[in-house]
Order: sequence, then C-alpha cells, then structure tokens
Amino acid sequence: MATTKTKKKPIKKVSKTTRKISKAMANPSSGIANNKSKIAPYKPKKNEKYMSAAMKKHFIAVLLLWKEHLKEEMKKTFDHLKTKGETYADPVDRASQEEEFAFELRTRDRERKLTNKIAISIEKIKQDDYGWCDSCGDEIGIKRLEARPTATHCIHCKTLDEIKEKQLSG
Ligand SMILES: [Zn+2]
Repeated sequence: MATTKTKKKPIKKVSKTTRKISKAMANPSSGIANNKSKIAPYKPKKNEKYMSAAMKKHFIAVLLLWKEHLKEEMKKTFDHLKTKGETYADPVDRASQEEEFAFELRTRDRERKLTNKIAISIEKIKQDDYGWCDSCGDEIGIKRLEARPTATHCIHCKTLDEIKEKQLSG
C-alpha cells in the first residue's frame, strides 16, 4: 500500500484561541460545546467526493484543535478546584463553595466525555468511517459536521431519536 502522506500541513497555533478560553472561565460551560476554532469551514471543490482525503484532513485538524482547547480547559477546571479546596474556612463560604464545586465537577465530567467523543471521531476518520450516520448510513453532511464535529447521526435520525426520547419520558 502506498501511504506516502508524510507531508503534513502544520496545524495552526493555538495561542490566540487559548487566550480566548481564559475569558470563558467565568462561565466554564460556555467554551466547551463551542467549536470556534481558527480553522475556516471546509469548502468542497466542485464534484469533490464526500469525505475526500482533504476533507478528512480538515476534520482531523478541527478535532485536534478542539481537543487542545478542551485540554486547556480541563487543566483550568482542575487547578481551580484544587486551589479553591484549600482556601475558604468560613462555613458560609464553604456552602457556596460546595455548590461551585459540584458545578465544576459536572463540568469536568462533561469535558471528559467530550474528550472521549473527540477521540472516537478521530479514530473514525482513520478507519474511514467518519461522516456517515450510525443509524441509516447516510451522509451526515459537511455543514452539520462543522457545527458538531463529533456528530454520529444525520439530522433526520437525530431528530427522530429526540422525538422518541421525549415520548418515552412522557
Ligand atoms: Zn441517519
């Protein structure tokens, strides 16, 4: 097999975007689901095959950058938890602190799950399995993937699932 794709395009530096993350710290959840990477949306060429090599490369870059953001955020959440755990001694402070703690733990949990999803998506790209709906096998579509790079279902199946879920939960 001729896999001579050693010429890697350098992935854009994260420095600028990491600065943006510190701003998001006031509301830790805001930055997570947000995939405002510096990578411009992919513009397919005319007649370009869905999930072409270039397309896959693009989404790998997007996912890797996102993972990088997330790693930064997780580190911050962790540091935050650690330093705060040592400060307040006042019981009133402690009560509100515990609330914050719970919140940050949930954030951390979400971050961890998301990191897993990103890793799975990257793996799927490598396996040539990315971008196709897990339920019906249709294209998930570039647009949807740009908005949700970890999407595993097309919008139709996703909507259907949500309706079913709602019906089940009454
Ligand atoms: Zn589907």
